[in-house]
Amino acid sequence: MDKDILDKKFVPYLNEAKITEAVSRIASSINADYEDKMPLFIAILNGAFMFAADLYKEINVPSEISFVKLSSYAGTQSSGSVITSIGLDVAINARDIIIIEDIVDTGKTLTTFVTELKKEGPSSIRVCALLHKQEATIHPIPIDYLGFTIPNLFVVGYGLDYNGFGRNLKGIHQLKES
Ligand code: 5GP
Repeated sequence: MDKDILDKKFVPYLNEAKITEAVSRIASSINADYEDKMPLFIAILNGAFMFAADLYKEINVPSEISFVKLSSYAGTQSSGSVITSIGLDVAINARDIIIIEDIVDTGKTLTTFVTELKKEGPSSIRVCALLHKQEATIHPIPIDYLGFTIPNLFVVGYGLDYNGFGRNLKGIHQLKES
């Protein structure tokens, strides 16, 4: 069903079942890869909160999770600069880090964040993202665990917002092209 959010219309793109399947697939890979490790997950707020919560419930290796608040979006466009508003409260020196991101668009947020994290001397850094707009890449970054590659269209739902609204949709909806 189409959804009206503020002044825009959105159409269904990925339903709950598809998302759940992707979350389980990613969690199984992480569980296998980190069997004898104790990773520290770092989820990027706000958008990744729902994905991080669902994914973390499926993780069965000893691990911790922490959160940072980063943002580069205003409306439906990337602003190109990354603003950090809540920093990390855990030591990451010598830790195996898994970053949890909702969506990788230009790659600016993640490349900036990974550069910052590397200064703190982690043992390893891997990236886990639910969505990747491959065609929008400006700052290439390897994504080690990925849910879906999607076209370069604005999406909302499952934690992702349009100007603060729409995060509570259970599935992912795409901006309706007029
Ligand atoms: P990047 O820095 O890779 O250009 O953008 C990444 C961030 O922009 C994501 O964490 C997300 O917050 C936001 N973003 C990128 N594309 C979309 C989109 O289609 N919908 C929403 N709601 N946010 C997006």
